Amino acid sequence: MKDQSILVCGGGIAGMACALGLARKAFDVQILAPDVQRPPPETDTYHPRVYAISAASQRFLSEQGIWDLMEQRRLTEVTAMELYGDGGGTLQLEAWQDARDTLTWIVESGEIERALRQALKVYGVTWHDDHFADREADTVITKNGRRLKADLLIGADGGRSKVREQAGIAHQLKAYGDSGLVAHLNAEVAHQGVAMQWFTGDSVLALLPLPDTAEGPQVSMVWSASDEQAAEIMGVEHAMQAEQLSRQLQAITGGRLGKLKLRSTLHAFPLTLEKTAMVSAGVALVSDAAHRVHPLAGQGLNLGLGDVAELIQVLVAKPKHVGVGELRILEQYRRARAEPIAAMSFATDALHRLFKVQAVPVVWARNVGMSVLNKVPFLKRQLIANAAGISPRDRH
Ligand SMILES: Cc1cc2nc3c(=O)[nH]c(=O)nc-3n(C[C@H](O)[C@H](O)[C@H](O)COP(=O)(O)OP(=O)(O)OC[C@H]3O[C@@H](n4cnc5c(N)ncnc54)[C@H](O)[C@@H]3O)c2cc1C
Repeated sequence: MKDQSILVCGGGIAGMACALGLARKAFDVQILAPDVQRPPPETDTYHPRVYAISAASQRFLSEQGIWDLMEQRRLTEVTAMELYGDGGGTLQLEAWQDARDTLTWIVESGEIERALRQALKVYGVTWHDDHFADREADTVITKNGRRLKADLLIGADGGRSKVREQAGIAHQLKAYGDSGLVAHLNAEVAHQGVAMQWFTGDSVLALLPLPDTAEGPQVSMVWSASDEQAAEIMGVEHAMQAEQLSRQLQAITGGRLGKLKLRSTLHAFPLTLEKTAMVSAGVALVSDAAHRVHPLAGQGLNLGLGDVAELIQVLVAKPKHVGVGELRILEQYRRARAEPIAAMSFATDALHRLFKVQAVPVVWARNVGMSVLNKVPFLKRQLIANAAGISPRDRH
């Protein structure tokens, strides 16, 4: 068979999952990315980035044999969500209200990465420890001057994708002027598997449940605050930062989880809304290279794994005599992903804008709206399914 070699550029979760899924379907696939060591996790030390993994992503990772490779005691089931508005509005979503056991799972990035790397070794996928630099026809040129054949180049090289840039794939970016502040915290009160989110008007704070440590209950914080707020707290030294953060979190959460104490390094990420044309002849983008959304719904990686699952499906279904890089095949992938990506980009962007408006009638309406929603079982079921990342066709 000719024109079937695939090179995945990027060794994050999306890139590794893509290479693994294709190897499992017997495609000729290799990875090009810096190879990072992924040692086994230490008790009570948690990877700085954690994800809320949707039901669809959980199913995909299970199908790839990844779910069972992870240390199960490090995965946290979310059974309920509590949302708080900036004017007394509240909304509680519980899995049982839609006859489910779990809304999402909170999983460390490091755990998924370690399991994927292990599985790629089992499948014997070649990993080129290098960077993408350029491409001439069906040949990729690496930073160290190696030349690798690729009838299809998959760009899974993150938000600052070089593959996207080299292929000239159209890309639009809107900066939110906000940063995502991420850290793990000790809590005084047990979270009981509840994910909590506060819309404060000028920021969105999410506290996600993690396994208890020797110091007691633990949560992971994703706080989307203005760049100025973020710079202020990032600019102070650790002890002062911890004290300042505890005070600010106490004011927002009203002590819902008792006193919250920084137990890790605080990281800040700029937040953007990005979309791209996703494909060109011989090139397909997946995950952050293809799109970025506001993290307030915790769906960026879930969207990325949705891309990966769809691209694999399209490549498996194509006629054998058609090359993997042919644009008409890649267009099928782009069309299939257009609707879910647009829907998630719109929903997260609209929610972000709704909660930024400070006009009194809008503040009143959004808080009353939340409390009214809280009393309508049918609409709550819909929201629970959305929170769990369940599409209408998957509903029971
Ligand atoms: C604050 C915050 C919180 C978030 N929370 C959630 C959440 O709860 N749930 C969720 O689903 N999503 C969440 N997201 C989104 C999520 O982090 C991203 O969608 C996800 O990390 C994207 O993974 P990726 O594999 O596409 O990219 P990355 O993880 O960025 O991986 C890119 C890979 O490409 C490699 N690379 C880069 N340049 C080159 C090159 N030139 N050549 C070769 N390789 C290269 C890198 O080394 C890396 O291996 C959050 C995002 C933020 C900012």
